Amino acid sequence: MMDPKSLEQLIRNIPDYPKPGVQFKDITPLLADPAGLAMAVELMASPFRGKGIELVCGAESRGFIFGTAIAQALSAGFIPIRKPNKLPSDTAAITYDLEYGTDTLEIHKDAIKPKQKVLMVDDLLATGGTMKACCDLVDGLGGNIAGVTVLIELNFLNGRNVLAPYDNVHPVLQY
Ligand code: 5GP
Repeated sequence: MMDPKSLEQLIRNIPDYPKPGVQFKDITPLLADPAGLAMAVELMASPFRGKGIELVCGAESRGFIFGTAIAQALSAGFIPIRKPNKLPSDTAAITYDLEYGTDTLEIHKDAIKPKQKVLMVDDLLATGGTMKACCDLVDGLGGNIAGVTVLIELNFLNGRNVLAPYDNVHPVLQY
């Protein structure tokens, strides 16, 4: 049996990053650990195995790391969501609110065909703003969002509420 709790020791808390008062969950020790990385990918992918997932979609940069591995584990393709002006072909864009200011993310317009079954991936769900923007991009292209899988959910920030109606959210670890 794989115990998700054993992954906790591979996640490092960095105080006051990226700004004072914030404690950042640093996943790089987990990425560097062969068994830890394999377990994290498997635990993120397994709830969606056999569910007909055609595409896995993740935002740069940490969404790429887990997203491509999960896509392979599910025999699905991977679709990148990127910061502005990084994708070379025609894009759809979304601008969303941050604590201070806004951010924009883009996806290739032809990346997803209507009704394709898509699994959304990121390393961590905090306020949910990033994942909601990603889901809205995929939804806007007609994709059928089958679920959201993250390594870490920070419960106290209630990101899930922001994510509704994309309610099939699977975290491996919750804090
Ligand atoms: P949200 O938009 O939910 O507030 O923030 C989630 C996004 O910011 C994710 O893309 C995630 O990679 C990044 N993020 C925010 N806080 C952390 C953190 O403590 N650790 C890591 N690894 N990523 C974070």
